[in-house]
Amino acid sequence: MKVLCFGVGQAGGNVLDALLRYEQRTNADYVVDAVAYNTASTDLRGLDLVPEENRILFGADEVSGHGVGADNELAAELAERDSQQLLRGTDGSPTSTADAFLIFAGLGGGTGSGAAPVLAKHLQRIYEQPIYGVGILPAADEGALYSRNAARSLKTFVDVTDHVFAFDNGAWAHTGEDVAAAHDSMNEELVRRLGILFASGEVSESGTVGESVVDSSEIINTLRGGGISTIGYAASELPESDDDGGFSIKGLLGGGSSSVDELDSINRITTQTRKAVLGRLTLPCDVDSASRGLVVVSGPPEWLNRKAIERSRTWVEEQTASMEVRGGDYPLPESDHVGVLVLLGDVSRSDRVAEVRSTAVEAERDRRDREANDAGADSEDDSEAVVDDRLDT
Ligand code: GDP
Repeated sequence: MKVLCFGVGQAGGNVLDALLRYEQRTNADYVVDAVAYNTASTDLRGLDLVPEENRILFGADEVSGHGVGADNELAAELAERDSQQLLRGTDGSPTSTADAFLIFAGLGGGTGSGAAPVLAKHLQRIYEQPIYGVGILPAADEGALYSRNAARSLKTFVDVTDHVFAFDNGAWAHTGEDVAAAHDSMNEELVRRLGILFASGEVSESGTVGESVVDSSEIINTLRGGGISTIGYAASELPESDDDGGFSIKGLLGGGSSSVDELDSINRITTQTRKAVLGRLTLPCDVDSASRGLVVVSGPPEWLNRKAIERSRTWVEEQTASMEVRGGDYPLPESDHVGVLVLLGDVSRSDRVAEVRSTAVEAERDRRDREANDAGADSEDDSEAVVDDRLDT
């Protein structure tokens, strides 16, 4: 699936840069162009692979390139005011070749949190393609202000995009580890999943033996209807090829020229599917609250056993209680792994989102109490309005 990518704010730009690096490293080609936006000029300068001419500073009249701190309302205002300038980011991009647009942002900070939904809204007015957000949730120990920003921004982001891929910094930082120090490794985990998903939708049927390769319409259909999604991934290293006379059950039984044992391949694929879903998801959630799913099995074509892929798909269907789980393969002739990626779309219950939401409500209540105290009046309690009411958490 070809994607046109936008990174907004520091996290947005960093993750976009990491995706470009991953694309380069894997010799893939699914990013048609990459544009980064910020109110802080130093953050734009720190980027590596986003082309210089595609780094756009906005709000400079008001904040002179110094950023907005954690003030996401100011960022939204500046983005709205400079919306024409934001849209000029696609000048010169081959927009019609993109199957989808992707906007990356950290939802707890200022610039990305406030401006990413504004950018989505304006792109939505102009382009036909689906617009997906990649929203990064702050870890709980990053403070109540970040949670408050994230709860608000997530709600708006879900409303103005066709789907939001969520990534939870809280779930991916190891205990005791500083979240900022873990950004690079978290970005790697996120872009590997996104990279595999987009690259899988790019394989053409011709020239591969994959019998049911995933195509971009299957990804788009899995995300149709909107909401928040989560992605799981697990991989198993393959034994060295035993073409030189090594041990193979199939060989012993006189089976064909390939040294791949069918039972081994079925076991590996079904086990990795369970690990992908029951292991760490980009956003921890109740798996049975997902509305749709997509299972992508990657690896050398001789390992992509159809029966196993179908079995894995059915297993995910059972886990999610959804009748809409798609499955397909992604042949990688040179790979030494079998990997399984599971995309769960429109999840409605996530403890982490609930936690962000309740911290946000508390922070909002405190803020209003303080304001009312200062003014000597009773506070009006509509603090729940800050949070996402789409999820029944
Ligand atoms: P902005 O520049 O004002 O949009 O603010 P940031 O993008 O720095 O947003 C702050 C949030 O993003 C916090 O939750 C940070 O932990 C997170 N963040 C910042 N950089 C990265 C990054 O490279 N990767 C990840 N996963 N999170 C990041």
